[in-house]
Amino acid sequence: MENQIKGLHHITAIAGNAQRNYNFYTKVLGLRLIKKTVNFDDPETYHLYYGDEVGTPGTVLTFFPWQNIMTGRRGSRQATEIGYSVPENSLEFWLKRFEQHNVIHNKVAEKFGERYLTFLDPDGLKLELIASKKPDNRLPWETNEIKAENATKGFHNVTITTNKMQPTADILTGVFGYKLLEQHVNRYRFVTDAVDNANIVDLVEVEGEKAGHVAGGSVHHVAFRVENEAVLMHYREKIEALGLHITEKIDRNYFYSLYFREPGGVLFELATDNPGFSVDEPVNELGSHLKLPPQYEEYRASLETTLPKLV
Ligand code: ZN
Repeated sequence: MENQIKGLHHITAIAGNAQRNYNFYTKVLGLRLIKKTVNFDDPETYHLYYGDEVGTPGTVLTFFPWQNIMTGRRGSRQATEIGYSVPENSLEFWLKRFEQHNVIHNKVAEKFGERYLTFLDPDGLKLELIASKKPDNRLPWETNEIKAENATKGFHNVTITTNKMQPTADILTGVFGYKLLEQHVNRYRFVTDAVDNANIVDLVEVEGEKAGHVAGGSVHHVAFRVENEAVLMHYREKIEALGLHITEKIDRNYFYSLYFREPGGVLFELATDNPGFSVDEPVNELGSHLKLPPQYEEYRASLETTLPKLV
């Protein structure tokens, strides 16, 4: 089991204005900002991480907020929906909350026997709250306005839209250890039993769908979770053996990573549990300081002036 892919680690998306992103995810949705750092490839941009109290893998949604980014377009070869697990009777609470905060949302609907509520973040990123039919015993992060009986518990699933689902399905089943659980029309649900939560990937096959454009309001990559660096490198070999290009191991400060583009066109990452988000600030202070990787520490003073304050 410890050698397996343990479901989702984090999902990274692109936003426009950082403050607006922060307001939405911490105040409206009630997630905790667990890390305020910079984009390691573009240090004048934030990299914001939201999750549960400690940033447990499977609860972590991260953003690169680029103020002047153009809006992306949903389409094939993209992760197109991010599903959060919420308590069974909380959807009425969320409907009311979304009305109050002018969040664009649909009516409550049902798929695979679960009620869910689709909504858009301020940049148009599509998310869902899903009243999971399986008990979800993860402890949620609470805020003054959102208590445990309603709070999100981390990811339920991610949806990938593809022209042909088989090549992506082959990675999920042949390499990652997922199984096809259910199918409804063109939606194929894959699950791994290596973990109890954040363990579902839905593939939606739409043959003629144009490739989406990854920009504001779209998912940049989907990261899957592995126990440690030994397992990470084991998967590196497996993926390389398929003839796919995969990066060297990259140190992301809070985890170690590999990236490869799966045959369906989505950028996948594999990320380790170690060392975790409390490696550079204590749990009770997560997200409250600007944390920089060593290579940017010398620019701290200037970055602290350039980067917008989040309040
Ligand atoms: Zn990532």
